Amino acid sequence: MKQALTYDDVLLVPQYSDIKSRKEVEIRNNLDKHIRLALPIISSPMDTVTESDMSIAMCNAGGLGIIHRYNTVKEQCDLVRKCAYAGAAIGVTGDYLKRAINLFDVGVKVLCIDVAHGHHILMKEAIAAIREELGDMIHIMAGNVATLQGFNDLSDWGADSIRCNIGGGSICSTRIQTGHGLPGLQTIMDCARSDRDTKIIADGGIRSSGDIVKALAAGADFVMLGSMLAGTEESPGKKMYTLGGIRKEYRGMASKDAQMDWKGQYSSDEGICTSVDYKGPVDSILKDLRRGIVSGLSYSGARTIEELQSKAVWTSQTNAGLLEGRTHILGAN
Ligand code: IMP
Repeated sequence: MKQALTYDDVLLVPQYSDIKSRKEVEIRNNLDKHIRLALPIISSPMDTVTESDMSIAMCNAGGLGIIHRYNTVKEQCDLVRKCAYAGAAIGVTGDYLKRAINLFDVGVKVLCIDVAHGHHILMKEAIAAIREELGDMIHIMAGNVATLQGFNDLSDWGADSIRCNIGGGSICSTRIQTGHGLPGLQTIMDCARSDRDTKIIADGGIRSSGDIVKALAAGADFVMLGSMLAGTEESPGKKMYTLGGIRKEYRGMASKDAQMDWKGQYSSDEGICTSVDYKGPVDSILKDLRRGIVSGLSYSGARTIEELQSKAVWTSQTNAGLLEGRTHILGAN
């Protein structure tokens, strides 16, 4: 049986660097021939993460927001109209094709076909139907997949970028409920072996700029974040004033709670509903992440993401190594 690794199992080994200033490091990346992002970060299509305010803030920071699909077609189109250059999510059943066409008509450039198990015949049919209607004028982001085979199939079906990782999200209980999934970083390493030029989006389970650097070094072109952007001023939802401070809701879209709200019924319950500390404006979080990513590249002596991927030297670490790498003076007192 193959051993599968995830973020905490590995570290990047520091290497000789001739980078004298962090200004020499460039973390821009191309999503396709037309869309170039200054910051390789995309916000998750979740109803507690991305609506228009988050999408605008992501765009201003150089990243991309994907407006969630848990609303009517009109509501989603209204959210899209409020921001320039937006991405938006659709499903693979029901009104998805009408939704796709309407979103395209209001200016969406990136359609995210957002399903939990993307290596599926319904995904194949949805990509074909969208290509038939909209041709190559739209960027299709598909997923999620856990394997190289899944990645190659979605690529061959016509996806331009693919969300990789099943069961790794912070609010996800898919692996507990179904016994299926793969440690997140392993999926990125596996998909990076593909000879297709479809972009890899490392999605879920990312908790720090260090995890982002590991995902990029393993072969991801972009990362998608949920929990790191939840609880900000721009995330949808009301602030909750508690004795412990201000909090905001963050929930999995496959949680019973979310399904009951949007469908009035639920099938398999594969996520949780929780709240996180209020974090203030998302811009300061994105700036910190940018600083961390740039610093990460310089530790590998890399000026670009591509260079990071070719230079990366990995080591596995023990649990003692993991503990040593966390700030630990507080535990000693
Ligand atoms: P996070 O950044 O670790 O919080 O993970 C966010 C990612 O979790 C999203 O981009 C989705 O891929 C995934 N996700 C969202 N809702 C659910 C759910 O209810 N169950 C499983 N995965 C989910």
